[in-house]
Amino acid sequence: VIGRRRLLIATAAGLAAPALRAQAPALVSPADLAHAAALRDRALADRHAWPLLESLCTEVGARPAGSPADARAVQWAVANATRLGLSNVRAEPLQARVWQRGATEVAIAAPHPQKLTALALGNSASTPPDGLTAEVAAYADFDTLRADTSDRARGRIVFIDQHTERTRDGRGYGFAGRARWNGPAEAARRGALGVVIRSIGTDRQRFAHTGAMNLQDGVPVLPAVALAPPDADVVARLAARAEPLRLFLRVVAHQGVDVTTHNVIAEVPGRGPRADEIVLIGAHLDSWDVGQGAADDGAGVAIVLAAAKHLLDAGRAPARTVRVVLFGNEENGFDGARAYGDRHGAVRHQLVGESDFGAGRVWRLRSRVAAEALPAIDALAGLLAPLGIEAAGNEGTPGPDAGVLMRRHRWPAIELTQDGTAYFDVHHTENDTLARIDAATLPQNVAAWATTAWVAAQADVAF
Ligand SMILES: [Zn+2]
Repeated sequence: VIGRRRLLIATAAGLAAPALRAQAPALVSPADLAHAAALRDRALADRHAWPLLESLCTEVGARPAGSPADARAVQWAVANATRLGLSNVRAEPLQARVWQRGATEVAIAAPHPQKLTALALGNSASTPPDGLTAEVAAYADFDTLRADTSDRARGRIVFIDQHTERTRDGRGYGFAGRARWNGPAEAARRGALGVVIRSIGTDRQRFAHTGAMNLQDGVPVLPAVALAPPDADVVARLAARAEPLRLFLRVVAHQGVDVTTHNVIAEVPGRGPRADEIVLIGAHLDSWDVGQGAADDGAGVAIVLAAAKHLLDAGRAPARTVRVVLFGNEENGFDGARAYGDRHGAVRHQLVGESDFGAGRVWRLRSRVAAEALPAIDALAGLLAPLGIEAAGNEGTPGPDAGVLMRRHRWPAIELTQDGTAYFDVHHTENDTLARIDAATLPQNVAAWATTAWVAAQADVAF
């Protein structure tokens, strides 16, 4: 990851940084800092994360919440956490309401009939059994649709040609994603019959990107699909011509299916008076029903399990309990995060964080902690600097499930931002497979999470 020689030099510099704040209270002891540095350097040679991810992708694959594969993923997680030697391994059941995919067919009906590559969006309605054919009302992007006060969409299929900007931190997705999350409801408000969007993704491959669309009170739910980028290109080209463009849509979907799934929990138990406080490092165990759920979020599952294994192998019990939580049903509505909060909301949580952005290197540390804990974050930043991670303030957002818990319970949070430059090439597609994961970037993630968990567990301050 980085040259050995440079690492040694950088390590010394990293350890020196917190010492410069000699006037600040020493919230992390020298012994704990030294342990953290040793832990980090051992985790940088990690050999656990890749086999875990390979095993999950090979033996389970896609695992939408409530499916038989999801149940096997829960068994897989319990078995592997146990095998790694983690404690208090358990699967906590929870109820979820999910959407399930049936058949999807999308085609150009006229003027140049041809089949298109598409996936229905999560929460999409079904079309009539024989499908529907209608003229297209095309919009350049979500904002253009939202600004439309005309009657143009009424009785038509709305096409949203939203492009997704490639960014390291994912903000391109945050912006373009509105076309998927809210585009269908905006189209429904304008009397549309169905919605077709350009996939929210950064690739040029013939894979469609699924993902959930939002349901809004009092707004009809439309059949909605995403086209693979080259197929969206065809629709955009034909929509720009003078002849009317007609699309055929057939979607079979099962809405609001009640299922049981689980959060899987495993711990490195704390020892001493703070052992009942929790440092939560999470990921989500479920995936979409396409691909293998490798980047989203098999990588996160492997990273946090491996980080806990390194804490265990380092031989010192943490002061607080480090808890791995593999959340159920992130993709279809965060039921796992809410169920965790319902069950454990009264327990003191020192920190929540989540790895859910593929396997790219961590490049940024952002916290969301009390002001008096910032010197401990500075100490952590010094330890992470040799991994190429820069500290960037106290306005962090800790991932989807941890974010739900942070907002709902006001728990302190940490964000270890991964490089997401390539993440949205495969996100929510059939192409999210192990073949697209760079094994070389996993250990740096494991090292960052192990170090972060240890410092949070040991700090002599409530975050
Ligand atoms: Zn995810």
